[in-house]
Amino acid sequence: MMSPREELVFAPLGGVGEIGMNLSIYGLGDERRKTWIAVDCGVSFASEEHLPGVDLILPDIRYLVEERQNLAGIVLTHAHEDHFGALIDLWPKLKVPIYATPFTAALLQAKREGEPGAPEIPLRIVPLGGRLTLGPFDIELVSVAHSIPESNALIIRTRLGTLLHTGDWKIDPAPVIGPPTDEAKLRALGEEGVLALIGDSTNAIREGRSPSETEVADTLAKLIREAPARVAVTTFASHVARIRAAALAARAAGREVVVVGRAMERVVQVARETGYLDGIQDFRGIDAYQSLPRNRILALCTGSQGEPRAALARIAQAEHPSVTLDKGDRVIFSSRTIPGNEKEVSRVINGLVRQGIEVVTDRNDLVHVSGHPRRGEIEDMYGWVRPRIVIPVHGEALHLAEHAGIARKLGIGEVIVCENGDVIRLAPGPAGIIDEVPAARLYKDGRLIIEADARTVSDRRRLSFAGFVSVALAVTRKGELATDPEIELIGIPKNTAEGEELADVAYDAAVGTFESLPRPRRSDPDSVAEAVRGAVRSAIAQHWGKKPACYVHVLSV
Ligand SMILES: [Zn+2]
Ligand SMILES: [Zn+2]
Repeated sequence: MMSPREELVFAPLGGVGEIGMNLSIYGLGDERRKTWIAVDCGVSFASEEHLPGVDLILPDIRYLVEERQNLAGIVLTHAHEDHFGALIDLWPKLKVPIYATPFTAALLQAKREGEPGAPEIPLRIVPLGGRLTLGPFDIELVSVAHSIPESNALIIRTRLGTLLHTGDWKIDPAPVIGPPTDEAKLRALGEEGVLALIGDSTNAIREGRSPSETEVADTLAKLIREAPARVAVTTFASHVARIRAAALAARAAGREVVVVGRAMERVVQVARETGYLDGIQDFRGIDAYQSLPRNRILALCTGSQGEPRAALARIAQAEHPSVTLDKGDRVIFSSRTIPGNEKEVSRVINGLVRQGIEVVTDRNDLVHVSGHPRRGEIEDMYGWVRPRIVIPVHGEALHLAEHAGIARKLGIGEVIVCENGDVIRLAPGPAGIIDEVPAARLYKDGRLIIEADARTVSDRRRLSFAGFVSVALAVTRKGELATDPEIELIGIPKNTAEGEELADVAYDAAVGTFESLPRPRRSDPDSVAEAVRGAVRSAIAQHWGKKPACYVHVLSV
């Protein structure tokens, strides 16, 4: 029985207007009570410049916490960090079942084991192409090609219509690992009728079609075969197809494979357990590295994004305990530099080039392809599925707008460009944004999770730019200074251009301001603190050109 006001809604809680932190929810029910499912629960990576000291950005799930009793489960599309990286931190607030395919589940489990204190998360394994029922949602997995094994689109059938949540996908007839995108199932879905498609916009600005993983494998094979000395290949740790291609190329060239970097070791182990490296030779331990001849070795390294603590950056700085490279060796970046990481990657490349090491990137050769659909592939998908409504997700504003443009050009009548937190009614009636729910960000700061609007990080950014002055004043009951003020400067230059100490400048400003206050005000600690704080900051700014943070402690004695 359908209640008269029943509706089907979609709300992105992350991943729209940004690349990263994907978390989508779908709800079915009336205005007051809906049953929800969530798809993915990912992180974004923070840049050190904008968010000093913050390791990760997580979606703020306060809305889901409120609705926890009505949340039937979380379905993971694949094991990329931007889709499952927030689970270990956020699952304890929700405690709902998690559904994933075998590789995704195994990688989550391995990650959990690597993090002391991580919660025991109940994982329900769904086979590739499998089907499950969560409340009023009938969910079917569709295999899609991407850049990690077992990426899935989700067909979500409800009594108000059928949805396709594409997840991350591309069309690759020869993806090296796993089945290609299941065109037959998607065409059949189109015949069945699709109310709405919620889809990947990452490469919607790129014309044409992505090259195949197999073409990349061929290029790698040639570069590895022709290299005169050692070869190191760096790629995303989870890119098993690339690891497989590099290993096959090494075998053909008579080279042994050594894996360098914990994240990649973990993925290799999970890929062996789940069969994705079947038929691939055993890799050698890192201790074999120094004993093998230079033209008999292939090192597979983490650190393609220039991460300073990852293997490649340490090798480039000649700081790795067991792996070294020398003049004449070749390093292949089988990866793309994610926007924001350019400086770090350049630092690593320059470090290598300075040592006479040859560096190959996707500028020189086809050593990387993206796992996301370009315009031609998006058009194919719409041809197969023919949705009534399209909602672009997984992209920044420009990607979403370009994706919307493709959909409109193909004659799709209802295209909704939305923001995180928008609630979109998909049925009944015309699609549209009908409500808003909280969808902010959280920061992982050391071991703690803090709210993004907390002052912690903005204070830290300010301190990193302009330092800190601490002033301590002891004031007697009569309104006199009991002793000389204590001044402490942190992160501020010692002397002015004229050679005067800035500590003295602060001291003079503090004492002068205190003495200029009328006596009754001097016995009010708050009033003294405010006046002295303003004066000290201005006095330092006059010489330095920057206003430091300042804390004035007034002690009544
Ligand atoms: Zn992905
Ligand atoms: Zn993604």
